[in-house]
Amino acid sequence: MTESTTAYKDLIACPKCDALYHAVIPDNNHRAICDRCGTTLFAPREGSFLIVFAYALTVLVLIFAATWFPFISISKAGLSNTSSVFDVALSFSDSAMIPLTLAVAGMIILIPALRVLLILYTLAPLILERKPLPHAALAFRYSEQMRPWAMAEIFVLGVAVALVKIAGLANVDPGPAFWMFVALALIATIQDRAACSLTIWKALEAK
Ligand SMILES: [Zn+2]
Repeated sequence: MTESTTAYKDLIACPKCDALYHAVIPDNNHRAICDRCGTTLFAPREGSFLIVFAYALTVLVLIFAATWFPFISISKAGLSNTSSVFDVALSFSDSAMIPLTLAVAGMIILIPALRVLLILYTLAPLILERKPLPHAALAFRYSEQMRPWAMAEIFVLGVAVALVKIAGLANVDPGPAFWMFVALALIATIQDRAACSLTIWKALEAK
């Protein structure tokens, strides 16, 4: 490695305004903040990797359960129907709606599940203070790139609006899977706030 690449290796850019800094990780429970725009650059916290790991594992279990448990029951004039998210995905599988079904299933189930799996893969050895698993940096980069595409919370909002709209036409009861989606949208948001990406990058580099 030449001298100039060594000098660049330490540089980090503010994710919001691109100001460049020499990376100095503050002590636990302190923050490093961008001088120009105030964005938090580093916010290491004691045991934060374990906390993020626990949230990610919770999200994974909730995604799995929310796919199979009854999502919604609709009844009107003595007729009723209960569906899980999996039933809904299958019901469109032989029509022109397949691309829509794949897109919805991808954004609310597959991408969020894959994202937390990649985070678990990245963090497990760091928690045990071991060397990262092979391609951990790539796994973490993919998990960061998937962040905008994991849309469980948008799905929950959309469903809540739809429920209000159809409530006048039939009896609509949200099932356990609906509340699991609400919980997973909340926990995924808390997990993202607890995870300090730059601290994780630095931990991956240091091992
Ligand atoms: Zn900035």
